[in-house]
Amino acid sequence: MLKRCSHFDLETSRENALFACDAIVHERQKQLDECEAQLLEALGAAVKQEKKLGHLGSESLFMEYVRFARNKGFGDWDASKMVIGFLDKSGAPQVEEKPIYTPIELTDEMKANSWAHREKTHEIRRLTKELVGRLRSLRFFCAVRDLQKQKETLVNVPCPACKIGEVPLTEVAVLSCCGHMGCLACVKEYAERGECVYSSVGRCSSVARSTNVVRGMTLGVDDKERDGEGRHYGVKLEKVADLIK
Ligand SMILES: [Zn+2]
Ligand SMILES: [Zn+2]
Repeated sequence: MLKRCSHFDLETSRENALFACDAIVHERQKQLDECEAQLLEALGAAVKQEKKLGHLGSESLFMEYVRFARNKGFGDWDASKMVIGFLDKSGAPQVEEKPIYTPIELTDEMKANSWAHREKTHEIRRLTKELVGRLRSLRFFCAVRDLQKQKETLVNVPCPACKIGEVPLTEVAVLSCCGHMGCLACVKEYAERGECVYSSVGRCSSVARSTNVVRGMTLGVDDKERDGEGRHYGVKLEKVADLIK
């Protein structure tokens, strides 16, 4: 990403900037797709293991994950919805509350199988965390791309906090930590207390900082008309690159 951004110093033409942003979105989408496929496969395997094991006198780590996924989610509404879809597809049970188990004596084989099941669940947890990160990253680059293209295709940005249905483009802000957008005033206000503007509707628990707030206008493709400062892509995208570690 940083390597890509450095190209903008040399290539300041609009087509190149848009093309490069499209390429980043494409790449991030591919990474997300791969992560999704891995998670779906791991969930399928864990559901099979769970069925084979039966109940072992206590809630398995996997069932705890399923319960958590179905009831609480992973701090990002879109990612959580995606995981629930995968759970349903894999045939994972619906669990609302932790069931009461009667402890039983485990055989060595049961212990070994349950250990493998735990390991699979660790993998699932890691992939879920990765999925949230990848989804947020893709969301951010899609927002950047859309704002860059705002002249051709109008971007309709609502603000979840003040409930404005269509934030004027001059007031649009996007968070580099999760890609969520809203009006500058609300995005800033929430970021100052460490939250994403979508925490107002319980859809994102990303830790946002003031340094994560990117003004939509600074991403526009038509410099002079948009910000009157005649900035170049190099500066803009360098700034974006600075926000992403
Ligand atoms: Zn607002
Ligand atoms: Zn967010």
